[in-house]
Amino acid sequence: MNANTSSRSHDLFERAQAVIPGGVSSPVRAFGAVGGEPPVIVRGAGSSLFDADGREYLDFVCSWGPLILGHSHLSVQKAVAEQLTLGTTFGAPCEGEVLLAEEIQKLTGVESLRFVSSGTEATMSAIRLARGVTGRDKLVKFSGCYHGHADHLLVSAGSGLATFGEASSAGVPKAFTECTLVLPLDDEAALESLFAEHGSEIAVVIIEPIPANNGLLLQRPAFLKRLRELTLENGTLLIFDEVISGFRVGQGGAWELYGIEPDLVTYGKIVGGGLPVGAFGGKREYMDHLAPLGPVYQAGTLSGNPLAMAAGLATLNTLQKEKGWEKLESLGQYLEERLTPILESHDAKLVRQGSLFWMSLQSGDAPRSAEGIEASAADRYRHIFHSLLEQGIALAPSAYEVGFLSIAHGEADVDRLAEGLQKALRGASAH
Ligand SMILES: *Cc1c(COP(=O)(O)O)cnc(C)c1O
Repeated sequence: MNANTSSRSHDLFERAQAVIPGGVSSPVRAFGAVGGEPPVIVRGAGSSLFDADGREYLDFVCSWGPLILGHSHLSVQKAVAEQLTLGTTFGAPCEGEVLLAEEIQKLTGVESLRFVSSGTEATMSAIRLARGVTGRDKLVKFSGCYHGHADHLLVSAGSGLATFGEASSAGVPKAFTECTLVLPLDDEAALESLFAEHGSEIAVVIIEPIPANNGLLLQRPAFLKRLRELTLENGTLLIFDEVISGFRVGQGGAWELYGIEPDLVTYGKIVGGGLPVGAFGGKREYMDHLAPLGPVYQAGTLSGNPLAMAAGLATLNTLQKEKGWEKLESLGQYLEERLTPILESHDAKLVRQGSLFWMSLQSGDAPRSAEGIEASAADRYRHIFHSLLEQGIALAPSAYEVGFLSIAHGEADVDRLAEGLQKALRGASAH
């Protein structure tokens, strides 16, 4: 969006840049990948966002996943308002954390669970726990999977297959990345040779079973099964990072969808109903290694925060009461039917899992690994993104980020997206 210079949104963003690095609290919001200036948002309602100049955007980002009920859903408003009158934090066990943990156990089957305040904290804590349980140091991750910004996870693949990672951020000591190995997704042979060489040293493998942070790289079930077999054979713990996929692709997440049970699982985004929450859990025999029962330390002043627990619980209850996952699957199908012919006539493809979607802007089959994404896609996306934003439709400001539907979205919203996309792609080919 080219905010005109007299707009309130523009003024606020100028002021933001004077006091906050890049004007943002999380980097992708700055539009670095697509150019231009982000609108400053003052309000959300249902499937819409409103900026400081009162401009409306049909929102397919949904705060990057948490808002599966849409913005300001009444059930969340009520639950938070009610808790607000009772207090915002106690620094002691509270009822909300018991209720939410029981609800998550009922929906997913996880035996034991601890709450934290972000997805980053959830994966960081789950990895420490896995290392504490196994007494080993090495961590394996996959290129194209994102697990938050803990030091040992800010690692990208070096050259060659199974590689010791290189830091993908300044400020990460080499000693941290030396314990992290990076593998490509969708590649059983690489997995097998890594385990043949290092199997007895590997504490833990972490994967997004539905990788949704670098395109939507849907994995073959056979690959995930092989990963489960090899980790079991080698005494390595397997973490499914379901911070995006948990409560998004169905009530039991990817774990249920693929019928593959990890040792530990991480949640975030939807479990907080729009407030800052993460959680990690798994088999009780492992979770009991955490303090105060065991030797693995982990803590948080605002962990299990009553306001956030209320928002998460209201979200999960509403999803069940309103048959949310069924509705989202059928709306997702409708989106696929509308967008597929448009994209295919422009040498692109729609990739979808439930209410998660991504446009693969290259010819041929949709990629299953980060290495399979062509660099030209980012250029194509930049134009599409800005054309849609000008039409009042907000997709994520990066070619590598997925789109989200909420139960506040309807077929008319999808129609608007389809028409907007048609227009954007026609404009793009005219360039
Ligand atoms: C968003 C995300 C995280 C990080 O969560 P934050 O709350 O942003 O720290 C970790 N893993 C996955 C799969 C995510 O999508």
